[in-house]
Amino acid sequence: EDGADISGEHKISKEDFVVGRILGEGFFGEVHDGTGERIRVAIKTCKDCSADVKEKFLSEADLMKNLDHPHIVRLIGVIEADPVWIVMELYEHGELGNYLIENQYSLSTATLVLYCLQICKALAYLEGLNMVHRDIAVRNILVASPECVKLGDFGLSRYVDDQEYYKASVSRLPIKWMAPESINFRRFTTASDIFSMAQQPFFWLENGQVITQLEVGVRLHKPQLCPPIIYSLLTRCWAYEPSGRPSFGQLACSLSDVHRMEVEL
Ligand code: ADP
Repeated sequence: EDGADISGEHKISKEDFVVGRILGEGFFGEVHDGTGERIRVAIKTCKDCSADVKEKFLSEADLMKNLDHPHIVRLIGVIEADPVWIVMELYEHGELGNYLIENQYSLSTATLVLYCLQICKALAYLEGLNMVHRDIAVRNILVASPECVKLGDFGLSRYVDDQEYYKASVSRLPIKWMAPESINFRRFTTASDIFSMAQQPFFWLENGQVITQLEVGVRLHKPQLCPPIIYSLLTRCWAYEPSGRPSFGQLACSLSDVHRMEVEL
């Protein structure tokens, strides 16, 4: 038996899956699609898995196994025998960032608001568990169906204990997506998660210029097709002071109203 079990119901082992094509290159190694009994899966592998690399690789799965939400990538299990596998549910349509570009002329505003609302609910759920994601971006959201997206990539996620925020020490951070206090003080909270979310913000700046621009009040412009009500929600999320930003719960309520209006139009 080489299977480790996550759900508490049954062990999984490599014989349960047929490995298919390469979906992409992950940070630790290739990600393949695969087929299990009655389920399509994504299999994350770890290339040079020494003991400490393995620990880092598995830390994401460790966090994910406690999560259960309709808009969060579902972990199926971990197989610890070399080479280590992390097995997840497969989302056939791939990364949201690419999906948005490929379908830019057919996606309605109502659908885009629906995606925002779903991710917002996932983040409100994390907020309730005192977890910060730290890497919210469309490259880390997967499309399960045209009506359903899932938040993934918990590689940078952390529980925030009693001290209320997570202080990062690593240097591999997504500067252009980050809130001012995260750039300045490496301070990560739910309020800094609220600040994030965009395709490639500030692509015209060097990482080092981002904070000075943020501090003089520069923010992303309103895209032409973005409804004013959504842009006004966004500008509240980009408040300099973390306390001036809405919570994910509040944002989910506002988005749900906007979604209802868009559907009725
Ligand atoms: P890492 O976070 O380790 O760098 P990624 O999550 O970026 O790895 O995965 C690498 C590639 O595999 C990406 O292109 C991603 O879209 C794809 N991928 C990862 N998980 C899934 C999944 N559950 N369903 C479909 N595609 C996935």
